[in-house]
Amino acid sequence: MNVVPEVAALVPEIRSWRHHIHSHPETAFEEKATSAFVADKLRSFGLDVHAGLAGTGVVGVLKNGRSNAAIGLRADLDALHIHEKSGVSHASKVEGKMHACGHDGHTAMLLGAAAALARKRDFDGTVYFIFQPAEENEGGGKVMVEQGLFERFPMRAVYGMHNWPLMPLGTMATRVGPLMGAFDIFEIIATGKGAHAAMPNTGKDPMLFAAHAISALQTIVARNLHPLESGVVSVTQVHGGDTWNVIPQEVVLRGTVRTFDAGVQDLIERRIRTIVAGIAAMFEMGATVRYERRYPATINAEAETGHAIAAASAVVGAANVDADPTPNMGSEDFAFMLNAKPGCYVWLGAGRGPDTPNVHNPYYDFNDDALPIGASYWVTLVGQQLRA
Ligand SMILES: [Zn+2]
Ligand SMILES: [Zn+2]
Repeated sequence: MNVVPEVAALVPEIRSWRHHIHSHPETAFEEKATSAFVADKLRSFGLDVHAGLAGTGVVGVLKNGRSNAAIGLRADLDALHIHEKSGVSHASKVEGKMHACGHDGHTAMLLGAAAALARKRDFDGTVYFIFQPAEENEGGGKVMVEQGLFERFPMRAVYGMHNWPLMPLGTMATRVGPLMGAFDIFEIIATGKGAHAAMPNTGKDPMLFAAHAISALQTIVARNLHPLESGVVSVTQVHGGDTWNVIPQEVVLRGTVRTFDAGVQDLIERRIRTIVAGIAAMFEMGATVRYERRYPATINAEAETGHAIAAASAVVGAANVDADPTPNMGSEDFAFMLNAKPGCYVWLGAGRGPDTPNVHNPYYDFNDDALPIGASYWVTLVGQQLRA
């Protein structure tokens, strides 16, 4: 393990920032105190600070030397609506909110890298430290891009990192091409004709529609997708009916679709619409489909993935870097930045063993032992990419 000396010297501080942020979680677009904390720290390191992109977003600018070369490093600020059960001394002080995805650690590591680089100053160019709001569900990264992130802060590449408790501490992973899936949602409303349940012949039963639709939607992946392509169709909500003896008028189904490939995404949306229309026709009722594309797939560029692997190898050793991990169908708001700029997203091993709670679990807590590794990765990447 090659922890950068300037980072090693800062570890107690980085850990205390992480614990402070962890005890004060804020959710999407409400990260005011976290954003102010980050801006204060960046200013104290001597960086130029630009606050306000996407509301609570912060960009810290560190220039050194004469080169016009610039890269961006990105962390996320937001917590989740989860009631924390970790029992740690720095547990959430906010009822029902929790840093259960480790964004507290991501923010602390990027602050640590900024502090270390501000001391080290052994690079030639500009580093943009990007702290984005609302990674979970609400697309704060997308908003930053729409509000001119890359026009205001021109950079040739952007890099992201996420802790990964399913991988052991001291390992890292990334790959060229898709690493995380696209995230779409759908809502299907079937409208039949309500009736007395003892006289079904006088109604049109939307329950029957739901039963057939849930099964038939599973045939999309099983029967329409090429066997070597990937996709997930999950119906996750069924709403309909209030009592024993009434056939309801309406049933609502909701769910999510995950894909890596835009062609597969198009195919799944088209088949959902066809299946829903077909089943509705079969049962002589109406049905609507609302299909919304939320996050695109997280697709790493080839050259930047090579750069990320080189930096990761320098920190954790080449043998501990997996350059072809199995992609994950979870999704990542960083995808919007990668759609706009070449770059690379990496997973930082954070597992303490097979029983480590995964992200989004109420018992999860970011692994502090990953802090010096992640911060060293950032510092090393800058040193390699903006070589003095
Ligand atoms: Zn998350
Ligand atoms: Zn996350």
